[in-house]
Amino acid sequence: MYAIAIHDQTLVWQTHDAPRGIAADEVRIDVAWAGMNRADVMQRAGQYPPPPGESDIPGLEVSGTIAEVGHNVERFKPGDKVCALLAGGGYAEQVVVAEAQVLPIPSGVGLRDAAALPEVFATAWLNLYMEGAAKQGERIILHAGASGVGTAAIQLCRAFGNPCFVTVGSQAKLDACKLLGADAGWNRHEGSFVTPIKDWGGADMILDPVGGEYIAQDLQVLNPDGRVVLIGLMGGRDAQIDLGLMLMKRQRVIGSTLRSRSPRAKGAILDALHAHVWPKLASGDIKPLIDTAWPIQDADTAMQHMIDNANTGKVLLSVSG
Ligand code: NAP
Repeated sequence: MYAIAIHDQTLVWQTHDAPRGIAADEVRIDVAWAGMNRADVMQRAGQYPPPPGESDIPGLEVSGTIAEVGHNVERFKPGDKVCALLAGGGYAEQVVVAEAQVLPIPSGVGLRDAAALPEVFATAWLNLYMEGAAKQGERIILHAGASGVGTAAIQLCRAFGNPCFVTVGSQAKLDACKLLGADAGWNRHEGSFVTPIKDWGGADMILDPVGGEYIAQDLQVLNPDGRVVLIGLMGGRDAQIDLGLMLMKRQRVIGSTLRSRSPRAKGAILDALHAHVWPKLASGDIKPLIDTAWPIQDADTAMQHMIDNANTGKVLLSVSG
């Protein structure tokens, strides 16, 4: 098959060994579209190796058609249109993945848009409603609100009754986030977000993919019993925080990654998505926001677009779609 290999921090579309034979609980998918994620940027730079035993091909999510199923697989048959959450291997013509990590495409959603669902909606659902345990009405801050994850999280907040405030890098991104359902926001290039968020009324939960100096500011705007769920380190890994403030306000900082979780744990998150979010995708209440789509041969150019912070929503790669 063809797949992306990383040579000297460059993405090259070339022949590659096809995935090994499938186990009893796995399926083989002919890939139509692959979603690009910030993690792939770090993997290309050599800073985020795949978990042990996983493919060295980048790519955490795909859509496509089931080509083959293991003999214990019950939910899928060859020919079914699906999308899948992967630990790697998505930038390829074929992937093999546990049945638990696969979902049917929501009715009315095409193969292209389906590739934009698994990673960002699983991340947003997991961290808002499982790790962060957000209750209806709680007020939520979404840093990097115009990212793939942010644009999914805004829509979940709107659909599940959580007012949300975004931080973003431009007025155009702020406008796009408000169209998706954000209540308010702040351009991070205009200074600290602390006063604007206090003026908005503070927050019960913060989804933070930035870390670094954001964490101390997060704790300043977080209400008593509030949670920060730290999902990325785009701002660095060193933080100075006021432990006294954290103690007195009973605040919690929770670290969370999706990729390293077991197939079973990923399956539990996808089951929750299927139950709570798939009906809203089918009704059109929630729609993945697609920024751009590129042929997979242009994956490097697409990745530069992401590195330049030029995308609002998802960047997709066409494999055979
Ligand atoms: P994306 O679409 O590439 O968007 C990232 C955006 O973050 C950029 O467009 C930029 O938007 C903003 N940004 C970049 N550098 C920043 C900085 N130093 N400080 C503040 N904002 C910055 O990203 P994605 O794929 O959705 O991922 C978003 C984040 O979630 C990443 O950090 C990723 O690693 C993390 N993530 C974590 C998990 C997990 O399981 N822990 C899973 C998926 C994603 P502006 O121009 O608007 O500032």
